[in-house]
Amino acid sequence: MSAIAANLATVRQRIADAARRAGRRAQDVTLVAVSKTQPGAAVRDAIAAGQRDFGENRVQEALAKMDAVGPGPVWHLIGHLQTNKARLVPGRFALVQSLDSDKLAVALDSRARELAVALPVLLQLNWSGEATKAGLRDWDAVAALLERLAGCAALRPVGLMTIPDPAATEAATRAHFAQVRGLLERIRREIAPGPDFRELSMGMSHDFEWAIEEGATLVRIGTAIFGSRP
Ligand SMILES: *Cc1c(COP(=O)(O)O)cnc(C)c1O
Repeated sequence: MSAIAANLATVRQRIADAARRAGRRAQDVTLVAVSKTQPGAAVRDAIAAGQRDFGENRVQEALAKMDAVGPGPVWHLIGHLQTNKARLVPGRFALVQSLDSDKLAVALDSRARELAVALPVLLQLNWSGEATKAGLRDWDAVAALLERLAGCAALRPVGLMTIPDPAATEAATRAHFAQVRGLLERIRREIAPGPDFRELSMGMSHDFEWAIEEGATLVRIGTAIFGSRP
C-alpha cells in the first residue's frame, strides 16, 4: 500500500470516529483531499485508493493537473480567486468554495451562463476579520452577497466555508465552528436561499475532528494525506 493510501485509510477512520462521537453518519462528511502543490502522480495514488474529491487553491495549477490526471475526480476550488481568472472556472470545477465578492459572482455567473452549466458555490467567511485573509466579515456582507446571487441564474449557493485562525486554541476553534454553524442556520431561516444551502466546509489536517463534531459536511485535508507540501 502506498503512503498516501495508508494516510487516506487513517483519515477516513478518524472522520468516521468523529462523526460517530457526534451522532452523525460518516457518509454525511465529504473528504476533500487538498492536492495543491502535489504532483499529478500523488492525485492518481489517491484515486487508486478510492478518493474522489480534490481541492486546489490556484486555478492554473489545478487546470494543468486536471489535464494530467484525466477524467474521474471531482475538483473543488478552495483558494482566493481573482475576477480576471473567473472565466477559467465554470465547467472545470464542481464547487467553488471561496466566493467572497459581488464582482466575482457576476464574472463566474456570466461564464457559467455562456457554457450553460450550473456552478455551486460556498460563501467564504472571514469572521475573525484577519487582515491577510479573504472572506466575508459580517452578516450584512453575507446578506448582500446572497441577494446578489439570487440574480445569478447559473450560480447555486450551497453553504459556507471558513478557515479559523490556525493559532487559536481548541476551545476557540470549536467555538468558531459552532458560530459558523449557527450562521448557516440563521441564513436558512431568515434569507432562505433554498434547501440546498446546507454545506459547511470547515476543518483541515489539524482540526478536522473538531469541525466534524461541530457539524462540518466537507473537510479539506492536505498534509495528513499527502505529507508536507513540496
Ligand atoms: C491548504 C489548505 C487546506 C489544507 O491544509 P492542511 O493543513 O494541509 O490540511 C485546507 N483549506 C484551504 C483553504 C487550504 O488552502
